[in-house]
Amino acid sequence: MKAEIISVGTELILGSTLNTNTHYITQKLTEIGIDVLFHTSVVDDKKLLKDVINTSLNRVDLIIFTGGLGPTNDDITKEVVSDTLGLKLILDKSLEKEIKEYFLKTNRIMPSNNVKQAYIPEGSQFLNNEVGTAPGIYMNWQGKIIILLPGPPKEMKIMLNKYAIPLIKQDSIIKLKTINTIGIGESQLEMILKDIIEKQENPAITTFAKEGRVDIKLVAKGNCEKKLDEDLNKILWKIEKRIPEYIYAYDNTPIEKVVYQKLKENNMKIAFCESCTGGLITSKFTQIPGVSEVLDRGIITYSNNSKVEELGVDKSLINSYGAVSKEVALAMAEGLLNKTNVDIALSTTGIAGPTGGTKDKPIGLVFIGIALKDHSFAIKCLFNGDRITIQNRATLKAFDELRKILK
Ligand code: ATP
Repeated sequence: MKAEIISVGTELILGSTLNTNTHYITQKLTEIGIDVLFHTSVVDDKKLLKDVINTSLNRVDLIIFTGGLGPTNDDITKEVVSDTLGLKLILDKSLEKEIKEYFLKTNRIMPSNNVKQAYIPEGSQFLNNEVGTAPGIYMNWQGKIIILLPGPPKEMKIMLNKYAIPLIKQDSIIKLKTINTIGIGESQLEMILKDIIEKQENPAITTFAKEGRVDIKLVAKGNCEKKLDEDLNKILWKIEKRIPEYIYAYDNTPIEKVVYQKLKENNMKIAFCESCTGGLITSKFTQIPGVSEVLDRGIITYSNNSKVEELGVDKSLINSYGAVSKEVALAMAEGLLNKTNVDIALSTTGIAGPTGGTKDKPIGLVFIGIALKDHSFAIKCLFNGDRITIQNRATLKAFDELRKILK
């Protein structure tokens, strides 16, 4: 669904009021998968507003107006919209009563010109204004959704979130699906899916690069729920077939939760011994409620001594290969597995920087060791970025390796 936001008010054009409504509404519409294509601001002028409305009707399916709904003569939005659409303004008795009550509640008598606010275009419905007197308007006119909201941001926001958005969702079905991928860059992903993405209009496919991973967002719009589900599933299936190894979750399930669920399903226990990640892996994992069912322990074995004392790593291994090495990562994980009664032990050792890097062992070099009852292995990674980024990337990679093992 294509949308336009029309802000009415001379003060917006003159620069005395910052147009925050447009920004806010755009964010909210984008969140529910609506494409906002145009932002238009116009002065309080009937002829110009009419031109703007006619242009907008020719190019979008949803128009949201803000401003110009007050009781004074320069508040023209409702009148001009009705006139342009050829709709009569009709007095809504229940709305008149509500406006009168609002004035009573605030110990005031309703001025006669406020009755103007109780008139709504035929075939439309009013949206209650709990914090002001100007009601909003919602109408479905010849297949287009047209919404009028008041200018004051406080009133506009409540009305948009509480009434307008639920109505938009009801009138146009939008289905969203996010495929979460890891281990592949955005451009490579787009290359692999190029033909699918290019051919595809509904559902639309967009990729979003996140730190260390990429999300693929599918947005299907229409008016038949069954058809949307079918179309969405067809594309989902095509993408899954193309990149099965990179998909770790759907609809933003965190990767650590995927690992937790797999461990639980397999009735397995895990333990971590962390050096360069300093407890980050354990910390992330313990944010999942119920993790005690699968987590035995997490130890921070930062110094060489702690690797020897806590995990039984052979001192000579550290002397020969260095603490940041495949051999030590492996010995750490195996040592932890032997010491505990877990099914999987995972270790990290690396150089997070900003100092301590050498030509052979640069900053960002991280080894992840994984020991299982029947075999163990260690992988070498090289991450870019500052200390925190390297720690985050190593943590993500550790969970990705676990996910692959548990698949
Ligand atoms: P009211 O009944 O309060 O007059 P209204 O719908 O007629 O409501 P306007 O008179 O157009 O609204 O604007 C009222 C106030 O709302 C403005 O003075 C301004 O402070 C604020 N406002 C209007 N439009 C915007 C906007 N697009 N972004 C931010 N604030 C706005």
